[in-house]
Amino acid sequence: MLNIILFGPPGAGKGTQSEKIIDKYKLTHIATGDLFRKHLGEGTDLGKLAQKYMDEGNLVPDEVVIGMVDERIKETKASSYGYIFDGFPRTVPQAKALDTLLEEKGEKIAGMIALDVPEEELKKRIKERGKTSGRTDDQDEAKIENRIKVYQEETLPVANYYDGEGKYVKIHGVGSIDEIFDKISSEIDKLK
Ligand code: AMP
Repeated sequence: MLNIILFGPPGAGKGTQSEKIIDKYKLTHIATGDLFRKHLGEGTDLGKLAQKYMDEGNLVPDEVVIGMVDERIKETKASSYGYIFDGFPRTVPQAKALDTLLEEKGEKIAGMIALDVPEEELKKRIKERGKTSGRTDDQDEAKIENRIKVYQEETLPVANYYDGEGKYVKIHGVGSIDEIFDKISSEIDKLK
């Protein structure tokens, strides 16, 4: 299996690039934000629990996220060539839990590809996306600011964690979608 983490702040283009990665490398997408929004839409207990955190741009508690990812891996593992993790792990405890989950299945993370995008560009992109995404967390200035702050304080240490394992690579995430995808592809090809 080839298991990759696509990392970066909100608005870095993880969702857009994930779609292209899935298409080319036939990996299974695990995007925790999308999974939470699905639960929310279906009105499940998990969705209701996650909503109050998502509404403010705060992180859903680790054990909830990890349980959801574990379940998703169990549901899809038999038919997967590997995973692209998008928006997960977002804390160091989540990263450690992911490593353990994969180890139990005889798997590991091959690498983390981080999209580097300046803060002003992130805000611009998120607001633009908010015009069509229907996401309230994309439309409110204070929520956007908080999501970026949470990223810097709680999520950035995850990059150091994988860097320490020699699995981290950073890519400049400004340019055309195809240009960025070409850079991502050449990094994935090195991991195969
Ligand atoms: P995203 O679609 O990745 O921007 O995620 C939207 C929201 O879902 C985040 O602001 C968090 O409230 C929640 N969320 C998504 N993934 C995670 C995660 N790995 N850990 C904690 N909260 C998450």
